[in-house]
Amino acid sequence: MDLTPQQKQEIEDSRAARSQTRRATVPALEEILYEAIPVLDHGFVRTIDYMGDDAAIVQAARVSYGKGTKKVSDDAGLINYLLRHRHTTPFEMCEIKYHIKVPIFIARQWIRHRTANVNEYSARYSVLDREFYIPEASQLAMQSTQNHQGRGALLEGEEAQRVLEILKEDATRNYDHYVEMLNEDPNGDIIDQDRSGLARELARMNLTLNAYTQWYWKIDLHNLLHFLSLRADRHAQYEIRVYADAMLETVKRWVPIAYEAFLQYRIGGVDLSASALSIVRKMLSGEPVTQEDSGMSKREWRELMATLGREE
Ligand SMILES: Cc1cc2nc3c(=O)[nH]c(=O)nc-3n(C[C@H](O)[C@H](O)[C@H](O)COP(=O)(O)OP(=O)(O)OC[C@H]3O[C@@H](n4cnc5c(N)ncnc54)[C@H](O)[C@@H]3O)c2cc1C
Repeated sequence: MDLTPQQKQEIEDSRAARSQTRRATVPALEEILYEAIPVLDHGFVRTIDYMGDDAAIVQAARVSYGKGTKKVSDDAGLINYLLRHRHTTPFEMCEIKYHIKVPIFIARQWIRHRTANVNEYSARYSVLDREFYIPEASQLAMQSTQNHQGRGALLEGEEAQRVLEILKEDATRNYDHYVEMLNEDPNGDIIDQDRSGLARELARMNLTLNAYTQWYWKIDLHNLLHFLSLRADRHAQYEIRVYADAMLETVKRWVPIAYEAFLQYRIGGVDLSASALSIVRKMLSGEPVTQEDSGMSKREWRELMATLGREE
């Protein structure tokens, strides 16, 4: 992740400024406010602003005139109860705003989450940076044979080398053509006075999907936790999971009690279907159970056994 000296200065200036407020603030999150947490080779997550804290969840749940909080253990008990029973609206009282820099092919997955407010960097108005996501060798994997949406074993040797070459060559060539069509260098200076240059809104169509875009992304805590439960999951694509992991760290600082409840009931917990529950009950009472008698498909059975740590 390379920030320009000007961008670094703007972050430092924001971090140096102080405001007085009667609103609740969270020191652990204030500590990293505006800082860019690096993700992938050129991406980042920056927390720009937030509203509320653990106490705001409790306050809303109790519809209190004051802070609404009691002992920390009572508050934790209430937040656990709310999350466990999907009483979600108190979590919507907290909001957070991020500045994200992300490759376009991941932004496409990200934007499917419709409950955030998004403002994307306009490549109709500005020229995109010459930055492309090139996976590390440890991420260059072949298509999984078991999961149509996943990765299998790593590519090796010459094949891996060639893939990296293609990714770099194509991204660089397309970016060079983008600049040529724009007839404008990254400083905004005209390259060839005899050419008019193509409009930015058209020239951008030639960029590769590993070019980086940026957006401001604001969301309430309930919907953020939904996003994180899908995207910090081990089945999520690595390139979005690393963003979700970085955001989880900000949630841990911001609302530590809600974060622990989220790990307990969402990330670390599972939902069981009626059939799965009946199988677990049979297992507990020592009755024999097999996939054939379970009424489950082989895949669902495998998933259940993996969840229960009973893989054969
Ligand atoms: C592992 C994985 C694989 C995926 N594969 C594919 C794929 O192959 N193809 C594909 O197209 N997508 C795919 N997706 C995207 C997925 O289908 C969802 O679009 C995405 O995860 C956003 O989920 P969401 O709608 O719950 O989130 P959000 O848009 O954030 O919505 C949150 C919740 O709000 C409610 N909501 C929001 N908008 C509406 C609405 N208009 N109507 C009704 N309820 C609404 C719903 O309850 C929803 O769960 C995949 C996602 C994952 C995690």
